[in-house]
Amino acid sequence: PPQTAQDLLATLSAEGVEFLRLQFTDILGTTKNVEVPRSQFEKALRGDVTFDGSAVEGFTRVEESDMLLSPDLSTFLIYPPFSPEDALGGRIARLICDVTLPDGAPFEGDPRFVLRRQVERARTLGFEMFVGTEPEFFLFERTAAGVGSTVTHDRAGYFDLAPIDKGERIRREITQKLVQMGFEIEAAHHEVAPGQHEIDFRYAPALETADRIATFKFVVKRVALEHGLLASFLPKPIAGVNGSGMHCHLSLFREGHNAFADPAGEHGLSATARHFIAGVLEHAGGMTAITNPLVNSYKRLVPGYEAPVNVAWSTSNRTALIRIPAKRGNSTRAEVRMPDPSCNPYLALAAMLAAGLDGIAQELEPPPAIARNIFRMTVREKRHHRIRELPADLREAVDELEKDPVVAGALGDHVMEHFVAAKRAEWREYSTTVHPWELERALDLI
Ligand code: GLU
Ligand code: MG
Ligand code: MG
Repeated sequence: PPQTAQDLLATLSAEGVEFLRLQFTDILGTTKNVEVPRSQFEKALRGDVTFDGSAVEGFTRVEESDMLLSPDLSTFLIYPPFSPEDALGGRIARLICDVTLPDGAPFEGDPRFVLRRQVERARTLGFEMFVGTEPEFFLFERTAAGVGSTVTHDRAGYFDLAPIDKGERIRREITQKLVQMGFEIEAAHHEVAPGQHEIDFRYAPALETADRIATFKFVVKRVALEHGLLASFLPKPIAGVNGSGMHCHLSLFREGHNAFADPAGEHGLSATARHFIAGVLEHAGGMTAITNPLVNSYKRLVPGYEAPVNVAWSTSNRTALIRIPAKRGNSTRAEVRMPDPSCNPYLALAAMLAAGLDGIAQELEPPPAIARNIFRMTVREKRHHRIRELPADLREAVDELEKDPVVAGALGDHVMEHFVAAKRAEWREYSTTVHPWELERALDLI
């Protein structure tokens, strides 16, 4: 990628780029962008494009609403055409931006800044965090009028082949577009539930991965739309079948070496790995509101669907919150299984990193790894192993977040205030809605 604004201006003109999208993310994880035409490119690259922050969810009060977009030049890419019309119009490029105040200071409510701050903290301790993710999603039919539904576009299951798997073609197209945008795709496959898919891309430093998750979701939705389908990252769109998770594989590197690996340690893990795992387990309850931010998220975190319910770790089984995949050496990593793809990737990675670093700072020791299927344990057995449960719903999760100074501190006051207010409002709205289930169950019985 071009290094200076001058280089980039030259590239934009050489590549015939007509429009530049300046992209950022609000506190709830929605990707936003402002598009500028060619005449404004220089101004945009100077970081001089302003927008009204008060119009963006959770950003700022009206009286201090002017904000600036400061583009991160390393995130430059040119979009491939997504439709035949796209191919005819001028080319479109994008830059992911940091949000700054008029005096140039970083804006505390910018999720990218929140993650940067944790990445910096890790760096002062000598660590760089790498993250790989496994986002899952559903492809649904749209009605003739284009409205989305929960009718899955196929009835296939895990790793099925075409022609049962109609998603194969769409997945391949998504993969191709992502590759054209500089992604290294490691695998794409049908997931367990009908209509459910997963596409995995290569791990990268935390900030880059968070940027990629945002881009990934946009591309998946865009390509699905082109095929007349709805791609949804809602964690549990259909009761009774698997929901969609976004497992995060975390590792810390020190001077180019994986700091989690130690051939001499128990399970081949270093003390740093043990402390990090213990930190994530310790703060699991506090960070769930961030990693699983919707009312709907908690309908995925129930027994029986390969999603975690219990705060435990394991080197083998997938019912635990953290699993350590078998690979060692530079591939040694902790797979955190509770996040879902509705989370704000910047805040979620910041929360996990802060939790792990706290484990390292306090030299916390995790309980023994659990080798058994936790879903089959009795309450007594779980108590014996001191296995807690994740928050049962969004309200509990927000309560736990407010009680966790490490996670709350990583988010900062501005994000905490707006996030908690938005989530409490969401819970209030949900709990005062009369749901079809209540009527079906009791309307004519009572
Ligand atoms: N869909 C499962 C979840 O909700 C995960 C399945 C898998 O292990 O890939 O987390
Ligand atoms: Mg999966
Ligand atoms: Mg996984």
